[in-house]
Amino acid sequence: MKFASTLRGKLSPSECEILLFNSENHMVFHPLLADVAGASINVDAAATPLRQMLPKVGCRTERVHRIDLAASEIAFDDGRGALDRLHYDHVVIACGAESNLSIIPGMTEHAFAFKVMRDAIDLRQHIVSQMEQAEATNDPQRRRWHLSFIIVGAGFSGVEVAGEVNELVRSSTRFYHNFRKDDVVVSLVHPKDHILPEVAPALAEFARRKMEKAGITLILNTRAVAATHEGVELNDGRMLAGATVVCTIGTATSPLVQYLDAPKERGRILTQPDMRIQGHSNAWALGDCALIINAYDNKPSLTTGQFAERHGRQAALNLVRVLKGEPTRPFSFKALGELCSIGGYQAVAEMFGMHISGFLAWFLWRSVYLFKLPTWSRRFKVALDWTWDLLFPRDLSFLNSNGAKPFTFAYYLPGDFIQRQGDPARVFSVIQEGQVEVLVSDVPNEPGKVVGVLGKGDFFGNAALTENRPHQASIRALTAVRLRQANSALFSEMAGSFAPLRELLANAVTRNARELWRRLPLAKPLLDREPLSSFVDPLPAYPLRHDVSLGDAIKCLRESSSGELVVLGENNRLWGKLDRKDLYQVIARMAASPLDKHSGLSQRKLTDFLLPDPLCVSLQDSPFVAAGTMLQHGITWLPVVRSLDDPEPVGCIREEKIVDFLLHKVASAQDDAATSAATPAEQSLQRRAESA
Ligand SMILES: Cc1cc2nc3c(=O)[nH]c(=O)nc-3n(C[C@H](O)[C@H](O)[C@H](O)COP(=O)(O)OP(=O)(O)OC[C@H]3O[C@@H](n4cnc5c(N)ncnc54)[C@H](O)[C@@H]3O)c2cc1C
Repeated sequence: MKFASTLRGKLSPSECEILLFNSENHMVFHPLLADVAGASINVDAAATPLRQMLPKVGCRTERVHRIDLAASEIAFDDGRGALDRLHYDHVVIACGAESNLSIIPGMTEHAFAFKVMRDAIDLRQHIVSQMEQAEATNDPQRRRWHLSFIIVGAGFSGVEVAGEVNELVRSSTRFYHNFRKDDVVVSLVHPKDHILPEVAPALAEFARRKMEKAGITLILNTRAVAATHEGVELNDGRMLAGATVVCTIGTATSPLVQYLDAPKERGRILTQPDMRIQGHSNAWALGDCALIINAYDNKPSLTTGQFAERHGRQAALNLVRVLKGEPTRPFSFKALGELCSIGGYQAVAEMFGMHISGFLAWFLWRSVYLFKLPTWSRRFKVALDWTWDLLFPRDLSFLNSNGAKPFTFAYYLPGDFIQRQGDPARVFSVIQEGQVEVLVSDVPNEPGKVVGVLGKGDFFGNAALTENRPHQASIRALTAVRLRQANSALFSEMAGSFAPLRELLANAVTRNARELWRRLPLAKPLLDREPLSSFVDPLPAYPLRHDVSLGDAIKCLRESSSGELVVLGENNRLWGKLDRKDLYQVIARMAASPLDKHSGLSQRKLTDFLLPDPLCVSLQDSPFVAAGTMLQHGITWLPVVRSLDDPEPVGCIREEKIVDFLLHKVASAQDDAATSAATPAEQSLQRRAESA
């Protein structure tokens, strides 16, 4: 935005055409996101429409998919689902970074990120909905859970969000009858021994004291290691219960930069001192996505708005110099300082070498950001909202009051029950990662026996939802499991409207694990008596490394006599499995994709196509579980690992070997019955064998 406005100020529309591609039609003013989440300003005050701010710039609300620096071309979504291309004279890449919750298992599924406007709006709605649910419940433990808010990371964003959430919830308790301020728990988890590592220790200490006084619990020297539906697991083994988790740590390189053929360091594009990408004369990179050395101190620019804005201005001036044939100037900027609001009309500030804290710093924070807002209309709006907030209570209207989201994600740790036999059906779940075991019990409230294992791509919950009855099996996480879940309304709508899905689900109902168990009465006792190791074949001859190219994988597969390969990851642990059918599907998919069809097989990595964590069984499983798992998935082989905690592949198990074993057992049972007087048990076995 700053680049476009500076360039337009220097060159008229008749001298150059400027096209600004942004996936959204507005610019987000990030420092005010916490205020949006805490309902101290209205949603629209922190977002400024680009075309109103830049009337002489062509603003396109379109996502750019690829930039071909060699051909000076961009490929973008044309709005109809196809790719359009555009040639450029100069390209400026300023796509920022993306939040990356996947650095902590379960965060993607259960935590709020804090980067875009949607995150702040969703968080605000969620906080208010938790207060409504706390008001409605009579269970004190559940009420406490609804009123517990966990913020992970105590950098600027984490501290500001914690301050705002605390302020919103505590100041609103007077409008509810079922809970008081004391029931509210706002926790801030941070791995270091002090918060706000970016500011001077004395200011960080001031912020800590003020926040604790305001009721925020600081959990220092502690890391969050997983998030589940119930809360956050900490590295010291504690489980912090809470219905709201906000994760302010973790960034990822934008896909646009990932696929860019340019030098990068730690995911950021390396530039020359004038901000042109190294090795390119007409491509520039700015802001959080670029690694620009600041000539002022010879250090990499910080990933802050302060720097991004200066990059934009100076790069535009450099471009004008290039067009005029003048020498460019290196980026040079002396940082102005840091400001952080900590809630309750308090802030800390480091400006021009001075340390300021308390109300004065808070006033400074508000004044600076008010004048940093890009337009006068937004300045008036925010000033009005802030004044309103001083005089009136925060807005508790909850617009999305129809409750559960139709489509959600979930993460479970090993041993967690995902559904229990006899419970009413609520959701339809598809396994995205990990494995679960299916348990069936004939005694109420007992976990029951394992009758099968489900893995990636499998689903459950469909039978109970389709037939409108309680679950007939329990599902327990065998490994850490990621699920995608559709609520019952969405599931019914999908299953009712899409004939192919209906058919798929109907077939799945008839092959679910319980049915399987009933259909194989003879197999179960025979297989359960036998150790799995007696069925295990050696590993396929050519174990593949997961980082090989697609071309190498095809070569290896052609050399393998069985047409099956086990893929190894770090420390030679099981990463994936591959057979001819999988490879054919990958190649067919590449040929159909406009972006992939021209790339060679040796250029693409196996990991671009193959999903990790394949379905497997461990040496501790019974052969019946392996047989049921293969039958359930319509597959004929499975990798076997030493244990699920330590997935070192030790071999493979094949359907044909199990069938051979069963045939042999049945045949000998019949021979024995013919040659000797049968005991009642044997008679029963013989009857079963005959009927089988
Ligand atoms: C909660 C929060 C608070 C912050 N507070 C401060 C603060 O107080 N002070 C400070 O200096 N900094 C702050 N920052 C950091 C600051 O916001 C960033 O450093 C700054 O926004 C980076 O600017 P940028 O232009 O590089 O990227 P961004 O501002 O992230 O802009 C990138 C834009 O590119 C768009 N985009 C991405 N990919 C594509 C694509 N493929 N096609 C089209 N468009 C695309 C995105 O939608 C986005 O609009 C804060 C950040 C956060 C998240």
